[in-house]
Amino acid sequence: THATTREQASRDLETFPPQMPSRRVAVIGAGAAGLVAARELRREGHAPAPVVFERAVGVGGTWRYDDAASADPLGAGGVHGSLYASLRTNLPRESMGFLDFPFVADEGSIDPRRFPGHQEVLRYLETFARRFDLLGLVRLQTEVVGVRRSRVDGVGAGAAGWTVSYCSRKLAGGELQEEEEQSEVFDAVVVCNGHFAEPLLADIAGIGGWPGKQLHSHSYRVPDPFHGQVVVVIGYHPSGMDISRDIAGVAKEVHVAIRAAPAEMQSATAHANLWLHPMIECAEEDGSVVFQDGSRVKADSIVHCTGYKYGFPFLEEDGIVSVDNNRVGPLYKHVFPPQLAPHISFIGLPFKLILFPVFRLQSNWVAGALSGRIELPSPEEMMLDVMAFYSDMEARGWPKRFTHNLGVEAWTFEYQDWLAEQCGLEKMEEWRRVIYVAARARVLVRPESYRDEWDDDQLVAQAHITSSTATY
Ligand code: FAD
Repeated sequence: THATTREQASRDLETFPPQMPSRRVAVIGAGAAGLVAARELRREGHAPAPVVFERAVGVGGTWRYDDAASADPLGAGGVHGSLYASLRTNLPRESMGFLDFPFVADEGSIDPRRFPGHQEVLRYLETFARRFDLLGLVRLQTEVVGVRRSRVDGVGAGAAGWTVSYCSRKLAGGELQEEEEQSEVFDAVVVCNGHFAEPLLADIAGIGGWPGKQLHSHSYRVPDPFHGQVVVVIGYHPSGMDISRDIAGVAKEVHVAIRAAPAEMQSATAHANLWLHPMIECAEEDGSVVFQDGSRVKADSIVHCTGYKYGFPFLEEDGIVSVDNNRVGPLYKHVFPPQLAPHISFIGLPFKLILFPVFRLQSNWVAGALSGRIELPSPEEMMLDVMAFYSDMEARGWPKRFTHNLGVEAWTFEYQDWLAEQCGLEKMEEWRRVIYVAARARVLVRPESYRDEWDDDQLVAQAHITSSTATY
């Protein structure tokens, strides 16, 4: 839609300035993070163009709704998608999109609402991929099964190259055909494999003898199986809020177990058959679920909306990163393992912030660090920074599993502003910050209606003005 698109495209194709190193980079995953990583790497001039490995049949990652759920209701079972059929975004679209590729409703929208259904986000990401000519970089139905350092005598650890092993699986004539494992060597690897696919379960005393059915939100698609049931939902983050209401439409009763239920939340449940409780004390053999305040219900099902685990099953050797209680580390600013930077990096680990713009900044940082445009601190300095961050968390009493939770008030914008500065890119617009903060506050007090009632139309107008002048 903009003349600058063509100019940018030709800039993307320009040859790389010879004084800067150009790297052959493997990107793992073609969700929002992998797509923008590929764009930033190519824009930076890394050549040959990055190779994006994607095990699904198309790009978009999480936003590819999958009717099929894991056969194991509490496990991942090789299914990536965690979307339910009714899912609408939990952020207003104007705040959610990439800064340089606005996500406002346009003539191509299939769902122009401010909080659109998941199909609209997928459409947006597919449009992004086409607009920046990324589809040709993606090897679909190709799963990375191994990443290891290829050691070359006399060359520094990180610079030695990375062997990426992968398997291609293609459907042909209704049959799944798996090609033999193959390997290629790259100068660098950017990990963008997402972290909403491996269920994290609540630990419930007595659950072994409890006779009901359990499901993790990863495998929740539609409410129909809960018709007429008494259901306990654990967790009240966006998925728990949505799923409990989805189920309340067909179930007899829904009881939500929640860590802290402020008074304003209690009064905010418009469903007469939905109650909020403190966390679960135990489950009993007669089907009872007992809450920490002593109240109890006889339940047919428990739905765990308790989040996900980070996992990198393809990292074949120790010493890259480890995952401990959902802390992936050591990572400098959630991206670089200090000893191996910039040759391996992780995009998209932080949560509870505006994700797509952060993916873009992290990607630009990685691309710039690989070309030498952006200088990273020494490995020792990066490690000291990581340790100082961990000590700070400990001093504040924050658990390890909060390591990548940047939704803490003071950090909400600090991280992205810091990244923007490193990259020499524009900071997030003020209207976007205000829209985001207001939306987060509305969710808590108006969970039923926050997607359809608002009072920040003047900011939406601002977003539309900005997007009409955006250059990309
Ligand atoms: P993903 O989208 O998960 O993409 C990772 C990709 O990597 C996938 O395509 C996967 O197939 C591929 N992959 C993984 N392993 C391999 C391998 N070994 N080899 C090859 N390919 C591999 N965010 C928002 O901004 N707004 C929202 O409203 C919102 N709602 C959400 C609701 C739910 C239920 C969930 C689960 C998430 C939601 N999110 C939301 C967060 C969402 O995860 C991010 O928006 C974003 O899509 C994450 O992108 P990603 O690229 O990091 O990961």
